[in-house]
Amino acid sequence: MIITLKANAPREAADFVVEQALRFEGVSPRVHRFSGAGGEVIEVHLVGDTQKVPERLFADLPAVRRVVRVSQKYRLIGRHGATEAEVGFTYNDVRFDESEVVLCAGLCAVDTLEHVDATMRAVAAMGLRTTRMGAYKPRTSPYDFQGLGKDCLPWVFEAAGRHGIRVVSMEVCDIRHMEEIRAALEASGQATGVMLQIGTRNAQNFELLKAAGQQKVLPVLFKRGMGITLEESLNAVEYVASEGQPNIVFCLRGVKSHLGDPHRNLVDFAHVPVVRAQTRLPVCVDPSHSVGRLRIMPDGIPEMFHAAGQGVLTGASMVLVDLHPDPHQALCDGPQALALDWLPRLHDYVQRVRACYEDLLKSSVPVAPDHRRDLR
Ligand code: PEP
Ligand code: MN
Repeated sequence: MIITLKANAPREAADFVVEQALRFEGVSPRVHRFSGAGGEVIEVHLVGDTQKVPERLFADLPAVRRVVRVSQKYRLIGRHGATEAEVGFTYNDVRFDESEVVLCAGLCAVDTLEHVDATMRAVAAMGLRTTRMGAYKPRTSPYDFQGLGKDCLPWVFEAAGRHGIRVVSMEVCDIRHMEEIRAALEASGQATGVMLQIGTRNAQNFELLKAAGQQKVLPVLFKRGMGITLEESLNAVEYVASEGQPNIVFCLRGVKSHLGDPHRNLVDFAHVPVVRAQTRLPVCVDPSHSVGRLRIMPDGIPEMFHAAGQGVLTGASMVLVDLHPDPHQALCDGPQALALDWLPRLHDYVQRVRACYEDLLKSSVPVAPDHRRDLR
């Protein structure tokens, strides 16, 4: 059960709610404070056996805005009470929400300074302020390139600062990687910002998820587990939020199944509306790791664009894509990387599909809010 107090409600109101909740055996209240546009908002979350707790007990209090009974799962990331739930966050001047699509294109794996520089220049030339740069690469074979690790961080962050890149998405596989990133950011004078990417292979590495939540500074881009259910992935994200980091983007990147052949993974972008309905998280799609190859289709459009379009047309608000100045030389995932001259076309494609989605929302297709439940 979530009890939301009115904006700027007195502290004593929260204390009173806690006191009342403690009268019920097996119920433990936790107080959360959020600072929103209209001032501080306090929520008291009741955890445990809340069946016996009547909603009326709190709903009638003058300082209480609303009381929502939620299932045990997705307590923090869930979209409770629907319409007034806010989606997204701002980090380092970049807004991650549902108002526009953030295109995050860059190197799957950092290799040379020249490639980093050329990629960031191309990204910045499009007016984009986000990129991806993998320094720590979890590879299937121990003999494959493992990423340059912490040694490349100083020059990657310096280049990002120089090109006006505000957010670099970077996978971390270990708690130590988070510490190295934070130290390097500090040494760079916070030249840029980093979004911690939790890769599909670590989707249920609960200690890593908890650490990503505890650090509270850098937002998290969580990639759906490739061999687990959507529900399991959403529960994994809840670990990050429950440790204190609510700024999370949920990324769909396909699931492992040969039924997806000839694609690298079975593209799962039909889950974009599902994640949007169940959570307050902005949803990202990664056409590179799901499709896994670059093919131009008979209509002249790369199939990877078509896949990205499926996500954007259903409300995805971020696209994560592999880009490389010379894909043949890439040390990781070259076959799926777009050469730099594809970027303007991808940008145009994404904007056009987004415009279609916005147009759909203004059309006669959407059903009025009061009737939406009937369709579930
Ligand atoms: C990546 O984005 O570099 C990556 C390894 O993706 P995933 O974890 O989805 O395989
Ligand atoms: Mn990759």
